[in-house]
Amino acid sequence: MMRALWRNPTEPGYGFSPMTRFIFITGGVVSSLGKGLMAAALAALLQARGYKVRIRKFDPYLNVDPGTMSPYQHGEVYVTDDGAETDLDLGHYERFTGVASRQSDNITSGRVYQDIITKERRGDFLGATVQVIPHVTDAIKHFARAETEGLDFVLCEIGGTVGDIESLPFLEAIRQLSADVGRANAVYIHCTLVPYLAAAGELKTKPTQHSVAELRGIGIQPHVLVCRSEHPLPDSDRAKIALFCNVAKEAVIAALDAPSIYDVPLQYHAEGLDDQVLAAFGIHDAPAPNLARWTGISAALHNPEGEVTIGVVGKYTGMKDAYKSLTEALVHGGIANRVKVNIRWLDAEEFENDDIAARLEPMHGILVPGGFGERGSEGKIASVRFARERDVPFFGICLGMQMACIEAARNQAGVAAAGTTEFGPTAEPVVGMITEWMSAAGLQTRSEGGDLGGTMRLGAYEARLAGNSVAAAHYGASTISERHRHRYEVNVHYRDRLEASGLLFTGMSPDGLLPEIVERPDHSWFVGVQFHPELKSKPFDPHPLFKGFIAAAMRQSRLV
Ligand code: GLN
Repeated sequence: MMRALWRNPTEPGYGFSPMTRFIFITGGVVSSLGKGLMAAALAALLQARGYKVRIRKFDPYLNVDPGTMSPYQHGEVYVTDDGAETDLDLGHYERFTGVASRQSDNITSGRVYQDIITKERRGDFLGATVQVIPHVTDAIKHFARAETEGLDFVLCEIGGTVGDIESLPFLEAIRQLSADVGRANAVYIHCTLVPYLAAAGELKTKPTQHSVAELRGIGIQPHVLVCRSEHPLPDSDRAKIALFCNVAKEAVIAALDAPSIYDVPLQYHAEGLDDQVLAAFGIHDAPAPNLARWTGISAALHNPEGEVTIGVVGKYTGMKDAYKSLTEALVHGGIANRVKVNIRWLDAEEFENDDIAARLEPMHGILVPGGFGERGSEGKIASVRFARERDVPFFGICLGMQMACIEAARNQAGVAAAGTTEFGPTAEPVVGMITEWMSAAGLQTRSEGGDLGGTMRLGAYEARLAGNSVAAAHYGASTISERHRHRYEVNVHYRDRLEASGLLFTGMSPDGLLPEIVERPDHSWFVGVQFHPELKSKPFDPHPLFKGFIAAAMRQSRLV
């Protein structure tokens, strides 16, 4: 699985491009400043001027990838077509630019060290002492520059906050990179917080000054400062920051909270972010950006013609970032139908005791998202049953589809003991672990007791759709490719019984063995998918299934 970082630059396909310019994005003062969103918005603005862009994320933590981290810790794990489990910021990058992220766009300290130590054990360092500088920093630099051919700009976001011990090798590497790629080809943006002190009635610039001083101590002088703040930045504060931080006054960009994340590109453009970045590269004749895409999305979001309420019955409902792409895909479905989508997060575990009908009756659509583990599963199965019996639009994603199959087996197909081997041994494994399957790269095999990291069915797989299905009608295609991240599969041996009971298998893997989509033709809208369609939805290209689900919820809203 793991891609080697240390390819020799003289090897074919290495892809260092001398034409590519680099934008390095660091954060200071506090975390959660929206650096990822800023990177995504800036990339979208450069793209709107006709440039080719790619965004990369450097994560200083020691996990090899976020795949084994709890969604409570780290939010959603974003999966790429090439099967990488990556940081959720890569989802923002893709949603804003439409550029499909790859394994090579996300690196962690863990991956760097794993790669270096593997090479050290093999004897590849020929007796040298292996050190942070140059070995770790060289690996980071190689990662930043690999596969950049044809790109005008590569944006590199450094996770964490300046001052963290674990960020240091990354900051040192990006410092060195400006010498490697030429100073004119590297621009540094530092993102900080300008807090408002209510008691003093003023904004405070000191944390920004300290943060930039710390960055300069590492040898990086930022060209542009992005100052997050809850109040407009007065001209005097802008001047002060510019003076103390040694940046041009116009390059102090104020970033206030936006009504929607999709307003962020327009807001940054109005503040001059893209102009300042281009100016820092000495580019003064760039074409004006075509912002029609973003003004259109903004207009649709802020002028809805109705609203629908969707109940999401899940487990990680206390941690919204755990369902980041899902939330966004629902918003995109709203954009496509010109309605506002209200999301109600419902804790599946509570459904095991509560009056489920009272909780679900106000919903115009019910969605059971992906998830892991048994907790809350009976509540999810009960929600599927409610949606089926009351003819409420239902969308089951990954674990949600598996729950829909178990519900059908138990309550309609007469398989009372239906279960999934994920939750332990079961007499009727309607959902079970498969240990062999075909991928584009050939036969994949896993063992039952194998490692948890990087061992799921991951990334893009094709599915064939039944001609007269709801899925085929929505996609307008008979073969699709969608991203997967799961260990268990609906067991094709139950297909006949489930179909006879009314749940049709309308999407299958090309070899016909892995169920990919189930649906109920006798229902207002009932679709379960084994993959994660939310990962590929974009505000300017809403996913067809989310578009269809929200349209069905609109029809439902007229009934209740
Ligand atoms: N836990 C299930 C599996 O591993 C579903 C995973 C998911 O919903 N992403 O198959």
